[in-house]
Amino acid sequence: MASLHAGPEPGAARTSAKAKAKPAGSAGVAAGRRSVNATSAESRLGELKRRLQEVHDIASAGAVLGWDQATYMPKGGASARARQGASLSRLAHQRFTDAAVGKLLDGLMVHAKSLPEDSDDACLIRVVRRQYDKAVKVPAEFVSRREEVASASYDAWTRARPANDFAAMRPFLERMLDFSREYARYLGPYDHIADPLIDDLDDGMTVASVRALFDALRAELVPIVRAIAEQPLADDSCLRRRFPEAQQLKFSVGVIRRFGYDFDRGRLDKTHHPFCTRLASGDVRITTRVKENDLGDALFSTLHEAGHALYEQGVAPALDGMPLGGGTSMGVHESQSRLWENLVGRSRGFWEHFYPELRQAFPEQLKGVPLETFYRAINKVERSLIRTDADEVTYNLHVMLRFGLELDLLEGRLKVKDLPEAWRARFKSDLGLEPPDDRDGCLQDVHWYAGGIGGAFQSYTIGNILSAQLYAAAVEAHPEIFQEMSRGEFGTLRAWLGENLYRHGRKFKPDEVVRRATGKAMTIEPYIAYLRGKYGEPYELPPRRA
Ligand code: ZN
Repeated sequence: MASLHAGPEPGAARTSAKAKAKPAGSAGVAAGRRSVNATSAESRLGELKRRLQEVHDIASAGAVLGWDQATYMPKGGASARARQGASLSRLAHQRFTDAAVGKLLDGLMVHAKSLPEDSDDACLIRVVRRQYDKAVKVPAEFVSRREEVASASYDAWTRARPANDFAAMRPFLERMLDFSREYARYLGPYDHIADPLIDDLDDGMTVASVRALFDALRAELVPIVRAIAEQPLADDSCLRRRFPEAQQLKFSVGVIRRFGYDFDRGRLDKTHHPFCTRLASGDVRITTRVKENDLGDALFSTLHEAGHALYEQGVAPALDGMPLGGGTSMGVHESQSRLWENLVGRSRGFWEHFYPELRQAFPEQLKGVPLETFYRAINKVERSLIRTDADEVTYNLHVMLRFGLELDLLEGRLKVKDLPEAWRARFKSDLGLEPPDDRDGCLQDVHWYAGGIGGAFQSYTIGNILSAQLYAAAVEAHPEIFQEMSRGEFGTLRAWLGENLYRHGRKFKPDEVVRRATGKAMTIEPYIAYLRGKYGEPYELPPRRA
């Protein structure tokens, strides 16, 4: 399940006046010591924020149009919408890369050093400086050209996937690949052409660091997957009965309210591909999809997107409308969707509370299905075709496959026309299955078709790894989280995440945010311990290699 965010500067809210009056964290500048320099720095900062707010407003308007395109827009609106999106992203890019912004930043660098390093203003100046230095390398004309093709490509994909028509997508994908290459070239120099694309979404990561992480993880996962595959499959037929849409949505909404998703500051709608979008601190929307013959689909999609939304709703209001108002990276973002979807939503403790409620919602369908059967059904491990339906254990193999193909495409070792075949071959060797068609093969994810090739998929696995690391830190600080969960309460967990992660928004880089929250750099250990702890019980797993 992807989460589409509104670009590097999502969100718009009219809070700049408040933020200017009392910038959180700048209290250290005592009024008596204010010099002429400080005053001019403050007026520069005020002007910078005014300009950033405007960029945000334009980007948010684009995000509203994107949300509308994915939810309620009639088919006939597609070409006009593509043009509108392109115009707004060009406008936002032009305003942001205005030379005046660069001058304001130049004038503020000394001021930033005089502020406490983790103050809102010092972080804002640092983050905007980085974003600006990147953005000015990319022509506005390119941004708008890419946006227009991406929108048309997304529209075509919504028809081509159900029709299993890769040929229709091939020209779009070739163009998206060219855009990805062109974009990387603007941001160069780089060691690997995918480095700038990865850095955009997972600040600080490179092809080399992702490869090292994936290699270590693969070495742990493969024996686990193999051991599980040799044992009988869990029976998940209890999820495949007919579950009317309205009751499914009602139940899911009840759960995410308990998580703390605030419907006064958000809403839930249906889409093809679920996502979360932040329009402002007071408007964080999520979408889901429902299959009446699959109880897990809407439920876990909704919990997943609510996890993204809790993060966005938890960002300190003082950061709203600025580039700091949003989650810090795709990987950290995905850690929150996976944490609420899997570590919470697929745990036994969670269902000890919620299963009786679920049975009340579906008394006929779940008659005679004990909790244990249901628990095993929602945690069934099986090599499968679709990433978004994959279980926690095999999921990362799907990601690694895509990551490998992306690098091949970007390096020019694989041609777009040969992608379906390469996908099938790789799928067979990695997951032991052969996709029967492209619909459930290389057409299944929207990312390449709507966003470009490279940069996005590694975030899902980084998210899985970090979900376990952050959860372990929360539970270590507050072991009562487990007892609360089995009462259907999540206040302590949400408060810990809010305090240690959510409120910071984009103030710190991902590695710093992880260190601050857990005391360590990113590590796969808690994730492997979690998988072994959970799946070691129903399945016999081989011991870990030394
Ligand atoms: Zn997600």
